[in-house]
Amino acid sequence: MTRTYFLMAFIIAAIVAGCGPEQDTFLTNKVIAHRGAWKANDLPQNSIASLDRAIALGCMGSEFDVWMTADGVLILNHDAEYDSLEIEHSTYEQLLAVRLPNGERLPTVEEILRKGMSQNKTKLIMEIKPSSVSTERGQELAAKAVELVHQMGAQKWVDYITFDKHIGSKIIELDPEANVAYLMGDKTPQELKVEGYFGFDYNIRVLRENPNWIKEAHDLGLTVNSWTVNKEEDMEWLLENNVEFITTDEPELLLELIKN
Ligand code: MG
Repeated sequence: MTRTYFLMAFIIAAIVAGCGPEQDTFLTNKVIAHRGAWKANDLPQNSIASLDRAIALGCMGSEFDVWMTADGVLILNHDAEYDSLEIEHSTYEQLLAVRLPNGERLPTVEEILRKGMSQNKTKLIMEIKPSSVSTERGQELAAKAVELVHQMGAQKWVDYITFDKHIGSKIIELDPEANVAYLMGDKTPQELKVEGYFGFDYNIRVLRENPNWIKEAHDLGLTVNSWTVNKEEDMEWLLENNVEFITTDEPELLLELIKN
């Protein structure tokens, strides 16, 4: 009887495992390349090339910034404008004319997701930029981003970050399963927990001023990330405090520190 029970349980477990998602092979080394890994190799930030480099280095995550063009295409760039074209007031067609220094076009989110989904070691950390036009336009961008991630089946690859609380709450509303971290630094861990965030991603200065927030976050089951951490002493301090993620322009240095 017991043997039959175990045999049945084994068969059911095997079926469930067979039907479930592929084994999670994402890295867990805490290293998130800020705008990709660009600095050491002089690559453009927010490019396919800098994502490729972050993947090649073996970073657990590669961050990028997202804006929406006037005609609703989601593209990567850090600032509100590129090469004197304001992204929110330019069409995708107009933006196709400008090139990054390595010859790439400004990548679309679709292109970066496709690239990221070609592997399963490095996750994509998608920063949704606040709109300079209106709060509503920022939320529209957030909704389009979540829709695209779902259309492409990229949920497993993508964590979201944002400075804009309206964007954060929109993503959480549309996908309560999504990992969303808040960047602004003006909410306590308790507030973030209540609002459904996965964690915070605060400037290193904010964490140096509020070191107790790290433990408070962990006690609440929230993750801790910090930006943009380029100094070795800050990296060491965060590692001693067992943070989950460190966002840096110097992923090579942080990978070396973690290895030792
Ligand atoms: Mg960013």
